[in-house]
Amino acid sequence: MKTILTENQLRDGVAAMSAEIAARYGTEPLTIVAVMTGSLVLLADLIRQLSMPVRVSLIQASSYRGGTESGSLWIRDDMMLDVKDRDVLVVDDIFDTGKTLEAVMECIAEMQPLSLSSAVLLHKKERQQVSLVPDFVAFNIPDEFVVGYGLDYQDLYRNLPFLAVLEPAEIEANTV
Ligand code: 5GP
Ligand code: MG
Ligand code: MG
Repeated sequence: MKTILTENQLRDGVAAMSAEIAARYGTEPLTIVAVMTGSLVLLADLIRQLSMPVRVSLIQASSYRGGTESGSLWIRDDMMLDVKDRDVLVVDDIFDTGKTLEAVMECIAEMQPLSLSSAVLLHKKERQQVSLVPDFVAFNIPDEFVVGYGLDYQDLYRNLPFLAVLEPAEIEANTV
């Protein structure tokens, strides 16, 4: 595999995005809704850089069924905290077409938060298919399938501390 963001680059990018989030919300309490499972590592690093009162809520969403092709979208919100009248920040791993984040934002908007914004680790700008724009982005990346720092290929590679592009042979090796 080919590393495209090192552990140090990820740390610096997440720190910079955390500073922007801290500047926006100040000392106001913030409810973070993390889109599982890809945002797990970002969530852990991000919340430890925020000093306002933070609540952590989880939502599960996926538009990808195992491989690298886009599939149907589903959302599971039974692990959500009550977000009515709260300032809510949705955190996800990557904004690709944007369909996943758009659906999650629509789902949470129905829960009547006081405010609603979004933060993503990665943005593949060329692939965008929705009008929604993420409020906070740590890195813009080219249109390549990436793994590591929470992002998977067939549920593997989330534990890599860096972000990498898989070689075709590595994709084939994991295809069941
Ligand atoms: P979207 O709905 O924006 O097209 O897709 C977003 C979701 O697809 C992400 O939350 C992520 O789970 C998955 N995804 C999109 N691009 C990539 C990628 O390059 N690598 C991995 N591992 N997942 C991706
Ligand atoms: Mg995801
Ligand atoms: Mg995935």
